Amino acid sequence: MSPDTLALVGIAILGLAIGSFLNVCIHRLPRQASIVNPPSACPQCGYTLRWIDNIPLVSYALLGGRCRQCRAPISIRYPVVELLTMAVFLGHAIVFGWDVILVPRLVFASILIALFAIDLEHHLLPNVITLPGILVGLAFGVLLPPGIVDALVGTLLGGGVLWLIGEAYYRYSGQEGMGGGDVKMLAMIGAFLGWKLVILTLVLSSLLGSFVGLLVIALRKGGMKQALPYGTFLALAALTSSLVGTQIVDWYVSLYRQ
Ligand SMILES: [Zn+2]
Repeated sequence: MSPDTLALVGIAILGLAIGSFLNVCIHRLPRQASIVNPPSACPQCGYTLRWIDNIPLVSYALLGGRCRQCRAPISIRYPVVELLTMAVFLGHAIVFGWDVILVPRLVFASILIALFAIDLEHHLLPNVITLPGILVGLAFGVLLPPGIVDALVGTLLGGGVLWLIGEAYYRYSGQEGMGGGDVKMLAMIGAFLGWKLVILTLVLSSLLGSFVGLLVIALRKGGMKQALPYGTFLALAALTSSLVGTQIVDWYVSLYRQ
């Protein structure tokens, strides 16, 4: 194998391992449980998982998606998150190459995957992820792109814009439209991506949200209330912005230069 192929295999294995860790976070953080202790166990019979039950993808396949002891089904979320994380990690390596920017962007993508899955299941964006996420994003910004000033402006802009929209909606309709979790999540996105890409994330998430909302109405599967939580759209839009956002912004600006 060439060194590049070997490095891609390495990134794929890293993605599987991180995906396995994200599964623990996704299961435990909304339940306010420690991500370190106790070791993973079957929620049905209490069987403590051994290393052989914890190999990403492989264990799930070998066990046929069931607990080794009581045969209770294991959620399909486990292999899906592991595969998804692997694919996202490979995508980043292909887009960014072996540039140092790969490090913050892989950390960012991992956080987004966890938030996506937790918001989808619990309609919740935990502070224990978003608030440290803001600090981590700003810390990377001290040394790496987008730079600390851009990251700080992105944080304030991301958090501020959503807060204003939520406040305006609340005054207009008397209903809570935007959760505080969305505000902190967009602030975190600004910290990692800077002000330009946080605006792009906001635009893309609104487009995606409207599209899915219309689709839901067209299929008559219930009203907007049953639509997906906004954090899931923010996660998808932020991931897109992180990977190809600069190209999208350049293309959009070039439309007005001709
Ligand atoms: Zn069991």
